[in-house]
Formats: sequence, C-alpha cells, structure tokens
Amino acid sequence: MEKKQFQAESKRLLEMMINSIYTQKEIFLRELISNASDAIDKIYYKALTDDTLVFDKENYFIKVTANKDARTLTIRDTGIGMNQEDLESHLGVIAKSGSLAFKKDNEAQEGHNIIGQFGVGFYSAFMVADTVTVISRALGNHQAYKWESTGAEGYTIEPWTKDEVGTEIILNIKENTEDESYDEYLEEYRLRSIIKKYSDFIRYPIKMDVSSR
Ligand code: ADP
Ligand code: MG
Repeated sequence: MEKKQFQAESKRLLEMMINSIYTQKEIFLRELISNASDAIDKIYYKALTDDTLVFDKENYFIKVTANKDARTLTIRDTGIGMNQEDLESHLGVIAKSGSLAFKKDNEAQEGHNIIGQFGVGFYSAFMVADTVTVISRALGNHQAYKWESTGAEGYTIEPWTKDEVGTEIILNIKENTEDESYDEYLEEYRLRSIIKKYSDFIRYPIKMDVSSR
C-alpha cells in the first residue's frame, strides 16, 4: 500500500497537534462532532432539492462509542460521507476555514485560549490519538474507503466495506504518560460533560455507548 504525504502546511498543523502544545485537548470531540453534524446537514440540504432523497429524521444521528479495553473512541455519523477523492483532498490538506484563521492568530499572539475560539478541525484528533482511522462511504457509492494515519509521516487509503452511508472516525487513544492522562477520554461521565459543554446546540441526536470490551 502506498503511503501518501500530507501537504506541507497540513504537516505543520498536524505536528502542533501531535505534540499537544495546547491545554484544552478536550476540544477534539467538539471538532469531530461538528464535522459529523456538518456531514448530516449536507444530506439535509441536498434532500430539500432532490426528490429521490428523503430526509427521515430518525436515520440521522451521531454516535460516540468508547471501548476501554481496545482504547478506542469512535465517532460515527450517518452523514454524506467521503469518497476516495474527498478523503484525499479533505483530510490530506489543511482545512481552509477554521484552521487557517486559528494559525494566523496563533502566530500573532502565541495565545493559549485561541483554541476555544477557532475551529482547529479534524487534525485535533491527534491531540489524544496516536492512530486515527476514518472509514467512510459517500452517498451514492457502494464502495467505502479506509483512511489511516499515525501522524506526520503520512496516511494510507484503501478500499473497505461499510454497510451504511456515512463516516466512522476511530481514535486509538494515547497511553497515559507521566504528566498527561488520556484515559479520561474513554470515560462516559467525562465524554458526556465535554459534549454538554461544547456540543449542546447540535441539531442531531448524539448517542453514546461506553463498554469495557
Ligand atoms: P472544516 O470543518 O473547517 O472544513 P476540518 O478539518 O474539521 O475542517 O474538516 C475538513 C474537511 O473534511 C471537512 O470540510 C469535510 O469536507 C471533511 N470531513 C471531516 N469530517 C467529516 C465527516 N464526518 N463526514 C464527512 N466529511 C468530513
Ligand atoms: Mg470542522
């Protein structure tokens, strides 16, 4: 399998995230939930003008699943999904909107609270995860794809199977270090409080499932 490189700018942001120079690591969940919500919005808006597409509210939700034994935190949505090209161009390249605004501001004042104000996007997952896996199937496609990265060296994309349209982001949560705890991102009460703090306004249901296996 071919390993692809991140665009130079993306690599820089990614390295900042991996080295976790920020204190508010918890915002990664806000970013991933907001992407999931955006992806469902895209189906919702498409359905307004596309007669062949019915937006049945019950089928659209975000699900957060923690598995303590496997050390995985999964954020799944039933949104519009990404095809191979989308995975390549959206996750291999720095986000245009939020992240750039953040970067400019950060360079200007080296502030610490900036992260709370701007979206830092998908790469914030690397603040808490050493491997990030994205399994996605785009609306209208039968073929799904798996995107995977362990950090700044690059990422791989390969065909995968997925029964439903949408996206699953699987975070392999980092091991605790002497001065940093990551276990909390597998704890139900902690996840609930982060969701309440940052994602209370999300228009779609956020379901949760925490298991030890
Ligand atoms: P932004 O949300 O500001 O565009 P992100 O870094 O958060 O930047 O995400 C980059 C892009 O990746 C999104 O614009 C979107 O196209 C794509 N993306 C990320 N997560 C998802 C998802 N769950 N479903 C569909 N597309 C996604
Ligand atoms: Mg985003």
